[in-house]
Amino acid sequence: TPVLECRQICKSFGGVPVLNNVDFILEKGEIHALVGQNGAGKSTLMKIINGVYNRDSGDILIEGEEQVYKSAQEARKAGISMVFQDFSLVPTLTVAQNIFLARELSGGRVVLDDRRMEEITQKLLDSIGIDISIHPRENVENLSVGSKQLVEIAKALSTDSKILIFDEPTASLSQAEISSLFSVIQNLKKKGISIIYISHYLKDIFKLCDSVTVLRDGVNVLSQPISETSLEKVIDAMVGKKVGNRIS
Ligand code: ADP
Ligand code: MG
Ligand code: MG
Repeated sequence: TPVLECRQICKSFGGVPVLNNVDFILEKGEIHALVGQNGAGKSTLMKIINGVYNRDSGDILIEGEEQVYKSAQEARKAGISMVFQDFSLVPTLTVAQNIFLARELSGGRVVLDDRRMEEITQKLLDSIGIDISIHPRENVENLSVGSKQLVEIAKALSTDSKILIFDEPTASLSQAEISSLFSVIQNLKKKGISIIYISHYLKDIFKLCDSVTVLRDGVNVLSQPISETSLEKVIDAMVGKKVGNRIS
């Protein structure tokens, strides 16, 4: 059973169709790239999977179970988290306080003193193999963009996420931060966490990902293991040329 299955997802905004019967399968423990030109519907599909938008029709299954969640909080409880650049963190709180805030919001009551929260946070940060040091007691507003993103990842893990969604995560990261992010993503995969990775950088995708799905004008036009496709095939699917023996 795939960890996530989207069946025939449809979504319109103001009568304009943005997703048209999209099927999407995420296998457990894979890093699955989602690509497509600007406006193809990538973020909309992820926001539906993440509970931020309601779908007009179609089904979402997690580990074979149909999901009816209606908010990001409910999706988080079902095991899905989206890693935002930094705007879901509260800048004036510490790293540890932000992580425990997420836990509380996802339903776990937490009554712990700061020192205990900081210890647990440090363990969580260590467990994702971060090579940059982030102090649990640091205020989030003092961190670099890359470090904030790593805190976001730790926050997602603190609520036992099975599926993590990264939407264009390398924008505004330094080269060193990008390398660090990629090694963290590889570590998450080793832990059995399944990842959806949206990016315009196809070369990164061919290095990092196991599978790729191409959306074009709200339609899934290609879903394949990376090992069975090529850069050229992906680009052709994005712009609408022949893909294999299927005209799309
Ligand atoms: P991508 O992430 O692939 O660039 P999006 O999912 O952001 O694409 O957008 C797909 C289409 O849906 C675009 O035409 C965009 O303008 C439209 N769209 C996205 N969100 C909304 C919204 N909240 N209201 C109206 N239109 C939207
Ligand atoms: Mg866009
Ligand atoms: Mg987008």
